[in-house]
Amino acid sequence: MSGYDPDAAATAVSITRAGDACFAELEELVEGNPGTDIPDDILASLHLLFGKNLAKALEVVDAGGITAHVGERSGRTVYKVPGRGDVYTVFPSHYCSCQSFMYDIVGRGEAVYCKHQLAVRLASVLRRVARAPCSDQDLARRLLGEGGVG
Ligand SMILES: [Zn+2]
Repeated sequence: MSGYDPDAAATAVSITRAGDACFAELEELVEGNPGTDIPDDILASLHLLFGKNLAKALEVVDAGGITAHVGERSGRTVYKVPGRGDVYTVFPSHYCSCQSFMYDIVGRGEAVYCKHQLAVRLASVLRRVARAPCSDQDLARRLLGEGGVG
């Protein structure tokens, strides 16, 4: 099998939308009850959508160290997520520098997000992202420099 598969693309779009709805619901909940855990029903929905990557993403969130580098003037954000012996560059909706993103998501279309992207989204709604403001020049350097696939 190769080439564009319209069914798979449609599935990916509905997973993305359903995921967005789950994260929005979770965010609302956390806003009302800071420090709350993810309720079982939302956890079940997320698991249904993202499968084994969800559990891995929760491990990444628990391990801590997710940092949002925010450009002072542009407001652009680059996330850095520590992994096994490496730090990954993550844009939660469309890019991660890890191998799984390259092979499973871009290459084979097996998943919509890698565990780092999910971890950033979860950590964002759970308020477990450290914010590190930096100059836009510095942001560009972080984007191009450290944190590639090892
Ligand atoms: Zn990744």
